[in-house]
Amino acid sequence: MQRLMPYMAFPLVLIGGLFLCYGLFVPLGEPAIAPFVVMLLWTIPWMLLLEWWTPFRRKWSESHNDVLTDTLYLLFIQSLWPRLLSAVWIGLLASATIWFSENITLFAGQPWPHEWPLVLQLTLALVLAEFGRYWVHRWAHEVSLLWRFHAVHHSAQRLYWLNAARFHPVEKILLHIPETVPFILLGVNAEVLALYFVTTGIHGLFQHSNIRLKLGPLNYIFAMAELHRFHHSKIIRESNTNYGNNLIIWDLVFGTFYWPKDRDVAEIGLLNPDYPKDFTGQLKAPFHKAKLDKPADYASNPEKYQ
Ligand SMILES: [Zn+2]
Repeated sequence: MQRLMPYMAFPLVLIGGLFLCYGLFVPLGEPAIAPFVVMLLWTIPWMLLLEWWTPFRRKWSESHNDVLTDTLYLLFIQSLWPRLLSAVWIGLLASATIWFSENITLFAGQPWPHEWPLVLQLTLALVLAEFGRYWVHRWAHEVSLLWRFHAVHHSAQRLYWLNAARFHPVEKILLHIPETVPFILLGVNAEVLALYFVTTGIHGLFQHSNIRLKLGPLNYIFAMAELHRFHHSKIIRESNTNYGNNLIIWDLVFGTFYWPKDRDVAEIGLLNPDYPKDFTGQLKAPFHKAKLDKPADYASNPEKYQ
């Protein structure tokens, strides 16, 4: 079981979550509520169990997990509360987008293919949203001004579930535009949107988790942890790859896919060891006069950091 779990965990939790979401539409009477229920009652318990049972890197856990008190502290004080916030955030975003999509028609004859099977509509929604997410994320790495904000996300020294929540609020708004505005413009229906936000919620938590995951050929579809860990590498040549949020397909199309299969990522984080580590320091960091995210000579001497 322990050998199979890295391959099965993400696909099973995702498929189970989607079926649960679908099955809740009728009893709940309102698709906007389903993502809340799926994230809180399905995804979070699975994340807690899997991070405890099969961690990717022991040193990325704060506790040794060998003392009951430590384990309880880790599970219920440090882990559960931020996870709840993350789940509630996804639920709110889903509800707001669904409300706009149902109540506001911006132009007549919205071209969304409502007659397609739900699974195809979900796939189309993912591919479309991922295109915008890919470019916002890629520009965040390549445009100096945007990188100042995105550096906050990359400042973590280890990868675990909480990194999924570590974004500067300015960037959070930019990132949500490609996964809300096109859906509202196209008139995507509530069921598809609920399934989309369940997918992105489950994927996001797994992508940053400290769970031992192996996806095999699915790594050519999903932007999962094996690929995303290289995106958090301290080596800039490695971190400027794998921009995908849920899917990796646009990285394959635009040539930024990166998967060295013979090794795991080495060090995680930013080059500057003095980057602020506290919450308010990080909120202010993008506006700091000095460039805090990379060494000052990076622009003139990039090969030094290859
Ligand atoms: Zn990034």
